Amino acid sequence: MASVVDTKLYDILGVPPGASENELKKAYRKLAKEYHPDKNPNAGDKFKEISFAYEVLSNPEKRELYDRYGEQGLREGSGGGGGMDDIFSHIFGGGLFGFMGNQSRSRNGRRRGEDMMHPLKVSLEDLYNGKTTKLQLSKNVLCSACNGQGGKTGAVQKCSACRGHGVRTMIRQLAPGMVQQVQSVCSDCNGEGEVINKKDRCKKCEGKKVIKEVKILEVHVDKGMKHGQRITFAGEADQAPGVEPGDIVLLLQEKEHEVFQRDGNDLHMTYKIGLVEALCGFQFTFKHLDARQIVVKYPPGKVIEPGCVRVVRGEGMPQYRNPFEKGDLYIKFDVQFPENNWVSPDKLSELEDLLPSRPEVPNIIGYTEEVELQEFDSTRGSGGGQRREVCTEESTRGGRTDTRSQARPGLCAVSISSV
Ligand SMILES: [Zn+2]
Ligand SMILES: [Zn+2]
Repeated sequence: MASVVDTKLYDILGVPPGASENELKKAYRKLAKEYHPDKNPNAGDKFKEISFAYEVLSNPEKRELYDRYGEQGLREGSGGGGGMDDIFSHIFGGGLFGFMGNQSRSRNGRRRGEDMMHPLKVSLEDLYNGKTTKLQLSKNVLCSACNGQGGKTGAVQKCSACRGHGVRTMIRQLAPGMVQQVQSVCSDCNGEGEVINKKDRCKKCEGKKVIKEVKILEVHVDKGMKHGQRITFAGEADQAPGVEPGDIVLLLQEKEHEVFQRDGNDLHMTYKIGLVEALCGFQFTFKHLDARQIVVKYPPGKVIEPGCVRVVRGEGMPQYRNPFEKGDLYIKFDVQFPENNWVSPDKLSELEDLLPSRPEVPNIIGYTEEVELQEFDSTRGSGGGQRREVCTEESTRGGRTDTRSQARPGLCAVSISSV
């Protein structure tokens, strides 16, 4: 048997082409679980792809058709219908990494070659400032020695096996009176409809009609472009005789940034300040994505609560194609409190005189019991029953029985701090 024409469906399931039925089933189950729309509502397409790949590969007849003739074999063999076109075009044509897909006819009736997709990693700085970069890639171009004919004029012969059609048609009987017409790619000429004698082949391209060429593309990453955005070079993909070349498509991949997180045109950052800054005003500087030093001032008298967010208007990302308009910068403040015993008790009473006064302690009537407030590490939180017991004991002894905190240990920390 000829080697597998195309591995797309195997790739979707993440198995090698020779995978056993068992391996297929295992891979399918795992992926189906992971991408099930109930769990992963945004992965609907992915789930459809997985289901489709498994549906084909778990059916021996369909699998053989696919192994031998690739997409074409399936398309013809399936007889179409039933939403098949949708999933076909999704996986094979126009899909993210379409292979022999996109072979739709173009306006002038020529077949259109597949698009070539390349990821392009860019930093947030590049997307803020814009950038021009050169990308080198190798692609097929028509052989100049034979003008893409593969040999001298006249050397090219019509394939006799398929009479130049590139496909062979088989009639299969499904049931008495019911036949199915199955078309498959001609194996003698690989679907090209023509063959060239060995001695007549072009020396430069060895009859392949195309040669590899290194191409350098100048890529302009514009200000404000986003993760997942495409930059298209029309007609720059592989050339082939009689085929209109597809596009080279660069898919922008934004790299993570140390300081900023992007959300559309807005930027987010976290900044640590001390308690004195949170209460008495502050000033700090940071370096923006275009290397400007930005000074942030907050006047004395205004208070920053731990975890609060303040905004700087107009210091976010530039808008794509309108770069003088910018989004906003959101700064979240992480307030660092001083350590235990950072100051002597008599100084503390001085501080207390300055701070807003305490609430008055209500008169307690009747039986009371004093409890101890302990350190609690919420990251170790619910691990094991012991800590849970400590918490529930404390809250019941305090005279208040909180059944929710008994059932859900995660709430303990909250109920203690509010006592
Ligand atoms: Zn042929
Ligand atoms: Zn040639």
